[in-house]
Amino acid sequence: LAARASGDAVTLRLPSWVGSLIGDGSRIHATPEERMDLAIRLAQRNVEEDTGGPFGACVFESETGRIVAAGVNVVVTSRCSVAHAEAMAIMIAQRRRGAFDLGAPGQPRMELVTSAQPCIQCYGVIWWSGVARLVVGADADDVRSIAGFEEGPLPPGWADRLRHRPPLPPVEVATGCLRDRAREVLRRYRDSGGPIYNPGSGLT
Ligand SMILES: [Zn+2]
Repeated sequence: LAARASGDAVTLRLPSWVGSLIGDGSRIHATPEERMDLAIRLAQRNVEEDTGGPFGACVFESETGRIVAAGVNVVVTSRCSVAHAEAMAIMIAQRRRGAFDLGAPGQPRMELVTSAQPCIQCYGVIWWSGVARLVVGADADDVRSIAGFEEGPLPPGWADRLRHRPPLPPVEVATGCLRDRAREVLRRYRDSGGPIYNPGSGLT
């Protein structure tokens, strides 16, 4: 293992249908609802295709409404607990833009739109990502009570901590965007018998 470790690499891949759903990136998603609609459709399709958990997320350029990257949950299919929708979208956006800081000088202002409230991991991913805005659909109670997924111990007032965090730049937060539709995807996943892959679930 030690001899191999120096060359180890990790590849995470989105399902092939994602590309056709988001198109060539030229479409303008003008409003928060249009942006959330895409994140929810990604989550929905991920359930229908049986390619992962009921979560979708996109990074958009805030001003133009152009999509930078999409993500869906591929934890089970990738055998990787990190592979949440928000993390996938942010990692792919950073790769595409060639920047670990999406808020770096020369980058347009960017935002993450996610079908469900970020978990403890994705809260950290967002914290370090450089996005200037976060838009959330379903909340953590929805995720837990409808689908059975734990979100982890998010800090109290997590949204306000993003909004005001000197010396780091603020992250605007908007919650409850198309929440009913986002909740419907969670219900559909539950009703389809999708795996609840929390640690200790017995799944691998
Ligand atoms: Zn997460």
